[in-house]
Amino acid sequence: MKLSLDHTPAHLMELPRKILIGDNVIESLGEFIKDLNQNASKIAIVTGHIVQAKAGKQCRASIDGSSLKNSWHIVTDASMDSVNRLQIGLEKYSPDFIVGLGGGRSVDVAKMTAFRLAKPFVSAPTSASHDGIASPFVSVKGLDRPHSIKANSPIGVLADTRLLSQAPMRLLASGCGDLVAKITAVRDWELAREEKNEYFGAYAANLASMSAEIIIKQSHKFRSNSIFGVRTIIEALISAGVAACIAGSSRPCSGSEHLFSHALEYVAGNNCGLHGERVGLGTIIMAKLHGLDWRQIVRTLKEIGAPTTGQEINIGEQNMVKALLLAPSLRPERYTILNKANLNEQSAKRVLKDVDVL
Ligand SMILES: [Zn+2]
Repeated sequence: MKLSLDHTPAHLMELPRKILIGDNVIESLGEFIKDLNQNASKIAIVTGHIVQAKAGKQCRASIDGSSLKNSWHIVTDASMDSVNRLQIGLEKYSPDFIVGLGGGRSVDVAKMTAFRLAKPFVSAPTSASHDGIASPFVSVKGLDRPHSIKANSPIGVLADTRLLSQAPMRLLASGCGDLVAKITAVRDWELAREEKNEYFGAYAANLASMSAEIIIKQSHKFRSNSIFGVRTIIEALISAGVAACIAGSSRPCSGSEHLFSHALEYVAGNNCGLHGERVGLGTIIMAKLHGLDWRQIVRTLKEIGAPTTGQEINIGEQNMVKALLLAPSLRPERYTILNKANLNEQSAKRVLKDVDVL
């Protein structure tokens, strides 16, 4: 039998080479870098003030112990201005690795700068709040589009569960919001295959779905056992990021619920909760539109302490409706349930009321 391969478009899968998870692994940052490249001699660390004060000393001991020259850079926001400043600052220094040590801001700015300078990037998250930890996707303000863009995948991920468990519970809950989102993201992707003949990667889709399912099954244990919660959530976020690496697109991780989140930021400005909190709300709504079990999503989010109404993140009814109507236009090439549902003001209000998110 002759296999027909001519209709399968090629796509590149860039995966992290090393992932280290555990208590106090930040103390082996130097060895971790040397394991990735024995010839590495200098690194740049991108971080925030609080994380530097908390973990800087442990990092430095390990980096110095591995004879790595290091320069530290503080970022205060995830914007293209920060990326541009960092890029100029690092051009001459030319580090062998750029390390993003911190929350979403530090990881995103470091990832984007590493991409622009064509340097390997190491992700060292200190909060389990979103899936950019292991994915090639980056979200910074000041880009010409409202959604995330593709940079390079991290070559290494170092997740210190002790540091992660010290982060505020709200960040962890936000991470759960970004994980339950994979249910509707994968369903949107399937819909695009069914109705638009879009490429669909079953393996990547299953991996992303698994990250959401484990959170749905285990969330009742997270509050009473925070160590178990942190470990489960960080592993699920890394798996989801790897699913995006395998897919070569953000499809398995980001669908209509992410478009809704971007639209909320657009209509409500900065003061509208964290990424995963908005995405969690979006997942409830899109699950309803898909005819999925949206009550299960609500239950999971409540169990972990994530918001399930707009009010909890300062969004009123008018902006919820506006965002829901605006969402599909933010990324016209990404076919989702919102294209199929083709909501108007009246039907948008009805859906929001049906799932009790107002
Ligand atoms: Zn996300």
